[in-house]
Amino acid sequence: MSRRLLVLGSTGSIGTQAIDVVGRSDDLEIVGLSAHSAWEALVEQAVAHGVRRIALADPDAAARAAEAWTDGEVLSGPDGLVRLVVESGADIVLNALVGSAGLGPTVAALGEGIDLALANKESLVVGGELVTQLAEATGARLLPVDSEHAALHHLLRAVPAGSLERITLTASGGPFRGRSRDELADVTVEEALAHPTWSMGGKITIDSATLMNKGLEVMEAHHLFGVPYEKIEVVVHPQSIVHALVETVDGAQLAHLGLPDMRIAIAYALHHPELADLPTRRLRLAELGRLEFEPVDEEAFPCLRLARQAAQAGGTAPCILNAANEVAVHAFLEGRLAFLGIPEVIDATLQEVPAGPVEAFESLYEADHAAREAARRIVERLGERAAARGGAGEL
Ligand code: NDP
Ligand code: MG
Repeated sequence: MSRRLLVLGSTGSIGTQAIDVVGRSDDLEIVGLSAHSAWEALVEQAVAHGVRRIALADPDAAARAAEAWTDGEVLSGPDGLVRLVVESGADIVLNALVGSAGLGPTVAALGEGIDLALANKESLVVGGELVTQLAEATGARLLPVDSEHAALHHLLRAVPAGSLERITLTASGGPFRGRSRDELADVTVEEALAHPTWSMGGKITIDSATLMNKGLEVMEAHHLFGVPYEKIEVVVHPQSIVHALVETVDGAQLAHLGLPDMRIAIAYALHHPELADLPTRRLRLAELGRLEFEPVDEEAFPCLRLARQAAQAGGTAPCILNAANEVAVHAFLEGRLAFLGIPEVIDATLQEVPAGPVEAFESLYEADHAAREAARRIVERLGERAAARGGAGEL
């Protein structure tokens, strides 16, 4: 019997690749789809896969979809997304939303005891222990889709309990690897969006250029695998062939290799513990010749350090960092903030908004809101300062 799958964020980079993976499987049936505002693409997917229920987070888009598509039901707004999850009867939910907007659906799926294939790393960064505790309480499985974490999940199956020494996440280094801080002062949005090895949505591509993506991934790994922060290393590996490594107490290291293709990670999560037969391009090491590694330049790319500091501080600090990053990346993509303004906004927001303990999900929604307000004010302030100096967006 096929398993019922709900795909959240199905019109995005991960969402569309997930639909490709499902199309190659006899075991999965799509029972619901969601997007933010891309209603035409969403309706097209629903028709192609015989799906009768969809949700659009943007109410205007939902209204237009409901008008144009009368063969099924269209749910609307963030509440509609949660309803889609709770009423889906799904066996597994893929959360491929972007940003902390993914937290609500993550909580809804795990709360219902539904297995969750998680691409939306932000919901784990923000929700942290509350999310993992919820999964434990209901028995739902948390299956990572992020390539490094899917790789670690796979590798850790070979490590006996108590034998893990450390884990290593690789980072491509993004399009600006090797540049000094000064050389980053006036990079353009177009340059930042030109990722050397992966083709992904806009937000994560900018996160990869600042290395914030790796900071979020360090927190994601900590929560998924219960590894203390000091035992999570990051190494720059420009070719993105080695996705992650684990070191065992005997000094051996196991690595997960493959040509960069997110379908491997998506299929790993959707089919766990089975492996899918995928038509991916195969890695031949002799053709590749060499693999390169180097340390992270934290002076030019301070986001990784900021993320580690927020992670160590705990409480609502990661939530504040994440919200400030979302606001800053958005402003950068709109040309209102320089590239180096991104870490500046995050740093200033963390100083302005005091972190507190996380008592319940409510504390997180409040911290997220306060951090966004502060970050928006800081972006404006930096913009005014730049204008006064006559530099377009320069800080
Ligand atoms: P995209 O921007 O390509 O797609 C995001 C999807 O979520 C779209 O379907 C979009 O709808 C929807 N969406 C966006 N904002 C909201 C919102 N506020 N409420 C509801 N739905 C929303 O992102 P990616 O696929 O690149 O990334 C998705 C997640 O996966 C991110 O957390 C990212 O960090 C993670 N990830 C991505 C990887 C990749 O290769 N792309 C690799 C590893 C992790 P619409 O089309 O209408 O805008
Ligand atoms: Mg990743």
